[in-house]
Amino acid sequence: MARFEEKQVKSILNIHKYVDQWFWDKYSLSVYQGCQFNCIYCYARSRKYNKNSGNNDIIYIKKDPAFILDRRIERARMLPPDIVAMSGVCDPYLPAEKKHRKTRDCLEVLEKHRWPVHILTKSPLVLRDTDILANIAKETWASVTFTITTIDSKMAERGELRRIRNVDDRVESFIIDNMDICDVESFSGISI
Ligand code: SF4
Repeated sequence: MARFEEKQVKSILNIHKYVDQWFWDKYSLSVYQGCQFNCIYCYARSRKYNKNSGNNDIIYIKKDPAFILDRRIERARMLPPDIVAMSGVCDPYLPAEKKHRKTRDCLEVLEKHRWPVHILTKSPLVLRDTDILANIAKETWASVTFTITTIDSKMAERGELRRIRNVDDRVESFIIDNMDICDVESFSGISI
């Protein structure tokens, strides 16, 4: 059972030296540190990103990420709008997001400033925020990549310690159809 702790951070937006060739992002942000999904192959479990290495039982919830992001963008003189990847070291739609809504709060800030966004997730909870994603898509660009690790459900059980969902193409189609309706680009990311 994951335990949650609040964490004060000074900054929330990571600026990359180069645009990421896989995810096209110049910026990234993670509103959580640690991930409830706890996939066995994930670098977010390493000591570099989580001091509870190999064990994501403590998830840090960053305090006021939307306020910090808004202030960063407002005050920046040399910060051109570019794609923000959500997220780097957590799934932005881990189950706790349902209650804490940190990802949604940050999306509202990106919407306000008309910054494009690329969501990377394994969770159908992303459907909750199609209203904001549709607005961002209308004003600039929004994309959702829905990750499918494997179509072998036994393998998925071994790799994704806390099961995210059954491998079920109906879930994937549902998400992609919903994103298409609101003009948000959507992709399936398949790990081989
Ligand atoms: S859902 Fe993504 S960020 Fe979370 S543990 Fe799995 S691979 Fe890592």
